[in-house]
Amino acid sequence: VLGDEAAAPIHRVLAGVPQSWDATLCNAVFASQARPVRGADGSVTGLVGVAVDVTEQAEARSALATSESRHRALSEATFEGIIYSIDGVVVDGNQQAALLFGFETGADLIGRSAPSFVAEEWHDTVAQAMATDRTEPYETVCIRADGSRFWAEVQGRRAEHEGRAVRVSAIRDVTARKAADEKRRFQADVLAHVSDAVVALDLDGRITYWNQGAEELHGRRADEVLGRSLSDIVRYALPDDGIPAEDADLMPEAALRSEAARNGELVYVAPDGRERFVSVSTSVLTDEAGAPRGLLAVSRDVTARRRMSARLRHQATHDALTELPNRTLFRDRIERAIAAGAPFAVMFIDLDRFKVVNDSLGHEAGDRLLREVAARPRATLAAADAVVARLGGDEFGVVTATTDAPALAQTLLDALARPLDLGARTVAPGASIGVVADGQDYDAPSELLRDADTAMYAAKRAGRGQLAVFAPAMHREAALRFGLEHDLRFAAARGQIVPYFQAIVDLQTGGVAGFEALARWHHPDLGLLAPSQFIPLAEELGLVADIDRWVLDLTCEAVANWGGEAVYALSYVSVNCSDRTFLAPDLVAHARAAADAAGLPPDRLVLELTERALVNVDAAREVVDAAHHYGLRLAIDDFGAGYSSLGLLHALPVDALKIDRSFVSELDASPAARALVRAVVGLSNDLGMTSVAEGVETPGQLRALRAAGATHGQGFLFTEPLPTDAARALLASPPWAEDWAGWVAEAAVE
Ligand code: C2E
Ligand code: CA
Ligand code: CA
Repeated sequence: VLGDEAAAPIHRVLAGVPQSWDATLCNAVFASQARPVRGADGSVTGLVGVAVDVTEQAEARSALATSESRHRALSEATFEGIIYSIDGVVVDGNQQAALLFGFETGADLIGRSAPSFVAEEWHDTVAQAMATDRTEPYETVCIRADGSRFWAEVQGRRAEHEGRAVRVSAIRDVTARKAADEKRRFQADVLAHVSDAVVALDLDGRITYWNQGAEELHGRRADEVLGRSLSDIVRYALPDDGIPAEDADLMPEAALRSEAARNGELVYVAPDGRERFVSVSTSVLTDEAGAPRGLLAVSRDVTARRRMSARLRHQATHDALTELPNRTLFRDRIERAIAAGAPFAVMFIDLDRFKVVNDSLGHEAGDRLLREVAARPRATLAAADAVVARLGGDEFGVVTATTDAPALAQTLLDALARPLDLGARTVAPGASIGVVADGQDYDAPSELLRDADTAMYAAKRAGRGQLAVFAPAMHREAALRFGLEHDLRFAAARGQIVPYFQAIVDLQTGGVAGFEALARWHHPDLGLLAPSQFIPLAEELGLVADIDRWVLDLTCEAVANWGGEAVYALSYVSVNCSDRTFLAPDLVAHARAAADAAGLPPDRLVLELTERALVNVDAAREVVDAAHHYGLRLAIDDFGAGYSSLGLLHALPVDALKIDRSFVSELDASPAARALVRAVVGLSNDLGMTSVAEGVETPGQLRALRAAGATHGQGFLFTEPLPTDAARALLASPPWAEDWAGWVAEAAVE
């Protein structure tokens, strides 16, 4: 009746052990229970049992088991840890939950208190979430079996579990995500708070990020600009303040298309209308796949720094005194003109009288002169599209696009020849200009400058106040000049410079009164050079004082060699002194020593000086007094040719006037010249000076001079300057002696 399945349990009951079992019989399930029945002696005498048809329940249970195992499979298959708890006690958990909390299997979790998995300080949060039965995820810190902690995201809800009301919690480890979040938040924080402006754009140039720094830099709030096109908000431009090397790709439109990061500086006009300079660095923003999705630009205001460097740059490229561009910028302008390929001209301007002003009126006057000179031609030059630069000292340069550079140069010459008020005095600076008319034919600024310089020297040699247009033939001259410069430094020491002697004739008797020593240079390659070929150069190079002293020494030496008798016959020998020589503090002592060494009485030595040497009256007076104190004599050379100031002759008494050749040569033809010579001779006689007429070439001039009362004369009519031996010979027997009577007699005939 009970079926085969019941056989074994019934046996056990009869053996004394109560049993319960299920058995299937005729497709029905019976739940049976049986226990032994014992006799008085305690032995089993039978059994009593109950069998209940539980078919329905059995089917339900089986169904439940199936669903339960499905659930379990499901819960094991999720990535989340799942814990079932009742009243805070874990009743089940899946494998993930076990791993999450550091256990081996879900069963290890059972019976543990649920709060033990949560960090103490989070208990309240968790309890609250559970109490309010909230179903949204929340975060908390969990604790593993080994005590270590992790960030978890928990989502809990009420559920049925094995027929009971339980709480199910799904738990995810979000430590990594939290760290990433944290990092992102930190970065965002940093970006928001850096003082730099941080701006992100999408590929269309629309603003997607705009931090506080950007708000400050551009004066616009983020909420005003987000989503709008950057070009509507800020208009950038490349700076043109002369600081070069900006990257045009830095402009936002270009940077958006650029693959590489860019750095540089841009300028924009701020809402207040002022120009601001910003240093910008851009980088390309990419999506996960590496495709560009926008641009990140970090910028900061560098206006102050930029202005400072612009100022420094200005200082580096401009002359502080005149505010004109300096040589560096000038070269740069020439370079640009060459690169542009259009016709242009370059001029080199050198002031003629700057040194005189500087030396005699002082540096302040010199500076003032330079400033005035820089200011004067401004309008002329602006009209000719020209840039003027100060190249140094009293040199200026001009680059101009004009097609008629010589005409422009002449205008400048005229402007610079006009007198200029320097307060104490009025001075016409005067200038010499060298012009290179075809600048576009040159490759290098240095060549252009060299040729303009060469032309300027040619103008200067042609007699100041002039302009010269460069011609290749000038190169030869310049090369010669360059060779001379070098040679001249050693010429005196090598004995190549010697005095020649020109006789000075007593116009009453026709006898030799004395000689003027005139320097000659025996150049090893060029032969005999006259003073005009090297004295101006020596003056420029500052060598003239050495040469003058050298000639002075040789002159005294030569005269001593002629013998005492010759010296006795001479009234004097004169030597030439350039301004610089004359004003040198030791000239007088040197001359005295040279005369003494040669046994020449000091009053037989005459120093010839120019009127220019007397411009600085105080300095000149010292030398004049010293010379007279030593018994030396002084003569003013080329009298009448310069800025003669008769007043000076009272202030600075000299012993002789040498009447300039330009008057003497006019004597035959010009009554005015005759009158002038008469006046000068009269003046010198009145002041107790002798008068020496220079450049006497004709008997007529001789007679006119005699008639005017001139005491002495020299010139080719009598003799040219001669080497020392010939001069000595001439002293004994002048070659004109036999002509003399005829020359002067004709006067009587007239
Ligand atoms: P200077 O002092 O006026 O000298 C007179 C110049 O006139 C000399 O030229 C002489 O040769 C020239 N001469 C003389 N008689 C006649 C004439 O009848 N007709 C013409 N046409 N010329 C005549 P030189 O020797 O060529 O000297 C030129 C200038 O060089 C001198 O002019 C003088 O200023 C300067 N010089 C000469 N020697 C020296 C020197 O040792 N030191 C300095 N600082 N200058 C010197
Ligand atoms: Ca002279
Ligand atoms: Ca002279």
